[in-house]
Amino acid sequence: MKKKINRQLMFISSIAVVVTVLLMAVVFYRMLQAQVIEDLRVYAHMVAKSDLPASLENMQEELKKEAMRVTLVNDDGNVLYESDADVTGMDNHLERPEVQKAMQYGEGQSVRQSSTMGKNTFYYAILLDDGSILRVSRDSHSIWSILFRSLPVFLVTLILLLVVCVALSRYLTKSLVLPIEQMAADMDHIGEANVYEELVPFAETIRAQHEAILSNANMRQEFTANVSHELKTPLAAISGYSELIENGMASGPDVVRFASGIHQSANRLLTLINDIIRLSELDVMKQTEPFEEISLYELARDSVEMLQIRAEEHGVILSMTGRPCSIHGDKQMIEELIYNLCDNAICYNNPGGLVSVTADTEEGRVFLRVKDTGIGIPKESQERIFERFYRVDKSRSKSTGGTGLGLAIVKHIVAVHNAEISLDSEIGKGTEITVTFASPSRANAPK
Ligand code: ADP
Repeated sequence: MKKKINRQLMFISSIAVVVTVLLMAVVFYRMLQAQVIEDLRVYAHMVAKSDLPASLENMQEELKKEAMRVTLVNDDGNVLYESDADVTGMDNHLERPEVQKAMQYGEGQSVRQSSTMGKNTFYYAILLDDGSILRVSRDSHSIWSILFRSLPVFLVTLILLLVVCVALSRYLTKSLVLPIEQMAADMDHIGEANVYEELVPFAETIRAQHEAILSNANMRQEFTANVSHELKTPLAAISGYSELIENGMASGPDVVRFASGIHQSANRLLTLINDIIRLSELDVMKQTEPFEEISLYELARDSVEMLQIRAEEHGVILSMTGRPCSIHGDKQMIEELIYNLCDNAICYNNPGGLVSVTADTEEGRVFLRVKDTGIGIPKESQERIFERFYRVDKSRSKSTGGTGLGLAIVKHIVAVHNAEISLDSEIGKGTEITVTFASPSRANAPK
């Protein structure tokens, strides 16, 4: 980019220099021409006022000094007097343009190529009272000779100007590119850098991407640390129990107790690993397969039926309401979503509490609502419960086999289905979570 800008600047400035020099030469030549003609005119009028032709002889010296020639032509075009040559044998001057013009308008001028190389002869003629014509002439440089003679100066100037142009265009290119280079070097402070107005949206996009990448990397790191920590606890328990058995430190009933501890910890490990695998699957998943039409109502009803035993274990009454309704989605994922929401509503409930699941349509949109009369979620945690491994009450979650990943999985599934999730909860009263799906007509409507 630098090279290109530099080259273009050089090109433009070189053209500008050459064109300027040529134009200057033309302007200079025109001025010179006008000056020569003016001199001739003044001189011609001066001579015309003198006592012609007698005065001409006296002017010889002066004419030589001024490099001028005076010619006197009669009204037939015959040369009567010529200051620089012998009159005899000179051809008729009647057809000369300056003579013609003088005869017609009283005065006339013309420029012709001189016999001397690179010179032009300038003529100025005036009509005298007696009908004869007085013509004054002088040789002057032609435009080509001016150009040619000034060639060395011209070339030196050109080279000097070009050197200045190279230096300037380097400097300009550098200062043009500098903000972009600064921006590239320090992505974190793009907003503070002196970036071009036109680049601001571009810079913003890059910064946003940059931040997203960073926060993603942070999230992954945090997740890895959390996973390791979560896996350590059941593994330590398994190791501890098995060591006691290995050392023969457990008597008969203890062995059963320890084995049960090992069993529980191993189950917890399995649940954790399953959830982690599921999350990473959802993380990399791209929606390539088209969604199928599924009956949300039926799916919810089946899940509720399946969870009845679990609800009974917790002394919770689980019920289902709503009307048949269907959505476009992934059946397995929706099952997971319903299961996770209902499982939480059962686990974070009180004995004798209620859980009601509703699948229905409202304002043309299908929704799933899981409402419980459980312990509720404190306001400050409501935003965070969808984060991985976040638990309001760690010990309560663990005692019910919670991993802290259930709602993170739910959030993923909601996003894949282009749905919305809302939460309404009050401590001691209960929680209501609603997932509203995009209506199929809207999802398919042209944008
Ligand atoms: P867990 O496996 O711990 O249940 P989740 O991601 O499903 O993890 O939920 C995160 C946290 O949100 C839970 O630990 C719990 O504190 C809180 N939570 C989720 N659902 C409910 C609910 N229905 N009532 C009260 N608290 C809830």
